[in-house]
Amino acid sequence: MAQRYALMIAPADAADVREDYSETFTPMDVTAPALSVGELSTQRGDGVFESIGVIDGHPNEVEAHVQRLAHSARLCDLPAPNLEQWRQAIAAVASQAPEGEAIVKLILSRGVEHGPAPTAWATVAPAPDFTAVRRNGVRVVTLDRGYDLGAGERAPWLLLGAKTLSYAVNMAALREAHRRGADDAVFVTRDGFVLEAPTASLILRRGDEFVTPAPSGGILHGTTQLAVYEHLAATGRRTGYATLTATDFVTADAAWLVSSIRLAVSVTAVDGAPLPVDADLTDELNAFLLSPR
Ligand code: PLP
Repeated sequence: MAQRYALMIAPADAADVREDYSETFTPMDVTAPALSVGELSTQRGDGVFESIGVIDGHPNEVEAHVQRLAHSARLCDLPAPNLEQWRQAIAAVASQAPEGEAIVKLILSRGVEHGPAPTAWATVAPAPDFTAVRRNGVRVVTLDRGYDLGAGERAPWLLLGAKTLSYAVNMAALREAHRRGADDAVFVTRDGFVLEAPTASLILRRGDEFVTPAPSGGILHGTTQLAVYEHLAATGRRTGYATLTATDFVTADAAWLVSSIRLAVSVTAVDGAPLPVDADLTDELNAFLLSPR
């Protein structure tokens, strides 16, 4: 297969109930330019996106991803996406995925400046090989997010619960983590509560309970965290949401960063202090996350 495959999508109205949306999809030449210079996603990061893990052609957690796309669009005052159109777009690009692990990306942008409609497209490409990091885990540093725990609810225009295209801050945090000799970062509020990693959710184990920061508007609600919780509950483990301090993090019995493409990785150290690692559970979680869901 080609390294990448892309479809432009002519966004349908959310009330459109046709059965087949294939005529709204246009395959793109991925080696040629495709976006207008007036495109607001590139000028301002004004849009929303999703990254979906694909295993041997099967896209995982499609429903959770299209629902979160709609949630992000709502927070950004974008026109409501037609969910059935997006499900069919995901199926169409996933059918072009290589064997093994791949990534489907969905992008819904504000569109062209002064233009009539949003711009939308979907792509599929092979995923990087994450075997080593799934085995070895990541050392993280905690980084100040610059606001307190109530900011998400107090200032919804910060779009903290939306998966927007404005990821420059998240990428800067990863570079800062690398500068400090770590592999990844976990954001901490001004008042000392842990939030999430720049591209992953945080799950802690405390005794026999699994906890994750409550997604109260300040962080993205991770589809992988939800899937992991389903698996943990189905196998008789206790799970919950909580307000967690940086001290809860460094004193946890184990911790993971979980996300759709890299899946579950153990946190092996926080700010240079080692954290216990539960390699068996990491393997169990990844075996589950790599199965069709
Ligand atoms: N939090 C942030 C900021 C993210 O960017 C991501 C994924 O990219 C996640 C959490 C995890 O979300 P998911 O499990 O749906 O991939």
